[in-house]
Amino acid sequence: MCEFPYAGAESQIHWRDLSSFWLVPLLAVAITQAAVLATSIYLHRGLAHHALRMHPVTDVAFRLLLWLTTGQRRQQWVAVHRKHHTFVDREGDPHSPRLLGFWRVQLFNVYYYIAACRERGLVAKYAPDVVPDRLDRLFFSRGLLGLGLGLGALCLVMGVRAGLIAGLTHAALYVLVLAPLINALGHWRGTRNYNNTACNSRVLAWVTGGESLHNNHHANPRAPKFSVRASEFDPSWPCIRALAAMGLLVIDRVPAR
Ligand SMILES: [Zn+2]
Ligand SMILES: [Zn+2]
Repeated sequence: MCEFPYAGAESQIHWRDLSSFWLVPLLAVAITQAAVLATSIYLHRGLAHHALRMHPVTDVAFRLLLWLTTGQRRQQWVAVHRKHHTFVDREGDPHSPRLLGFWRVQLFNVYYYIAACRERGLVAKYAPDVVPDRLDRLFFSRGLLGLGLGLGALCLVMGVRAGLIAGLTHAALYVLVLAPLINALGHWRGTRNYNNTACNSRVLAWVTGGESLHNNHHANPRAPKFSVRASEFDPSWPCIRALAAMGLLVIDRVPAR
């Protein structure tokens, strides 16, 4: 009798192998960086500030990536962010550390985001231009489905234990570390090129897709590039230039100097 080996066995992580042991955190970091860059390039610079125009293929690719890795609804993200720009560090700012305290925003950023999303009429008021289409209605508005599919795909490729660890590590890095650091530290401590209440962190910018050059961003919200000095690096910018060179997006605004 012929015996077939278990089809998924070869794709599972072999935990005794040191290279496999490092694969899980590396993959978690890579997924988080992909989600961070998609958030900065697509949701922030593209949709919220109209600094970039996406090719339809790029638009769907970014939405798919964000659906699988964050489950966020683009209308809500844009609305909450535009409200932040409307009431920077004043009553009405959804996540100001100057009003709420640094640690409350750092630790409970996701709570303040959800609370802001629940405000009646928020999307209609702040993001009327981000109109839900058929893909939103069928798939991308179902955040939990996207997250479930993303986690399921990881488990299928890496095995259940490694997939769960990689997925949960990514979630913790995105929700509890990087996104809160942009909102909390970005309005708390750092350097300033311009006279506003936001701050720059050149070091953090390397891992936040350039978002931690927050003082520069508040001075020029519609600039597609967040770095303005030779000592600052905006990791999203080379990605934007590469996508523009391939005709996958159009840079609409002149970079700030
Ligand atoms: Zn800000
Ligand atoms: Zn902004």
